[in-house]
Amino acid sequence: MLQLYDLHTHSTASDGVLSPSELVKRAATAGIYGLALTDHDTIDGLDEAELAAGQVGVKWIPGVEISVTWNFQTIHIVGLWINLRSPELIQGLTKLREFRVWRAEEIGRRLAKSNIPNAFIGACKLADGKVLTRTHFAKFLIQQGFATNEQKVFESFLTSGKPGYVTDQWATMDEAINWIKLANGKAVLAHPSRYKLTYKNLRRLISVFKETGGLGLEVISRSHTPENVATIARLANEFELLSSIGSDFHNPYNRRDVLGQLPNLPLECTPIWQ
Ligand code: AMP
Ligand code: MN
Ligand code: MN
Ligand code: MN
Repeated sequence: MLQLYDLHTHSTASDGVLSPSELVKRAATAGIYGLALTDHDTIDGLDEAELAAGQVGVKWIPGVEISVTWNFQTIHIVGLWINLRSPELIQGLTKLREFRVWRAEEIGRRLAKSNIPNAFIGACKLADGKVLTRTHFAKFLIQQGFATNEQKVFESFLTSGKPGYVTDQWATMDEAINWIKLANGKAVLAHPSRYKLTYKNLRRLISVFKETGGLGLEVISRSHTPENVATIARLANEFELLSSIGSDFHNPYNRRDVLGQLPNLPLECTPIWQ
């Protein structure tokens, strides 16, 4: 039988809903063979998840999803099989989380100017000392009755041009890939078809990613259509990159958010786990 991998998931260490151990148990129940937890800019959930993986017999892959600014765009680079003790990785992620706190304060100030008070405090409470993300602001705004679902709240308040949007200053591609390399990990470009890029710029992104030391593309992602999968699989082969699979699971109460249960990699792709 084919072994199922899911190499892109989130827990309460960032903006996921399940704790790291709950996530791992759910992955085992879902029949996942190999699992990576890849929280935004943190490795804090990985020890707990590894312990749980050992208990339920899931093959464990330590990971992280690093926020990067490339060509004025936010892109995400997943690091897999990373060494959690790498000082460069730890320092780099700490710097990104410090930016997140500053950004959250700024989001709070901007929302206050739009007559939405206490958003910073509200988001902090929901993050509960873990990594602060825009998802926490989204949840706060829904609780306060400003929108009915996350998609709408992002569109109305938290994306470019909207009252609670702050221009991001994340890591450079060079920094992120270097931290992953110094941690002996493999860098994977997350959900390549989700970025709002022309085909020409997508090729440029992949070309720079490869030149900088990136190893794989997330060919299968929850946010990819079958056409996206075909395009990214073709680009992976053209640029001689490996292929990865990730659900980007956050929330078991969202029907479109499912752990595992992803299509198989196209046959022409070389899996990153081989
Ligand atoms: P941040 O890294 O703090 O800017 O937050 C980004 C996170 O917000 C992503 O990882 C998604 O989980 C979530 N997100 C971004 N855009 C949307 C959207 N349009 N609808 C729902 N969630 C979103
Ligand atoms: Mn997220
Ligand atoms: Mn992402
Ligand atoms: Mn993600």
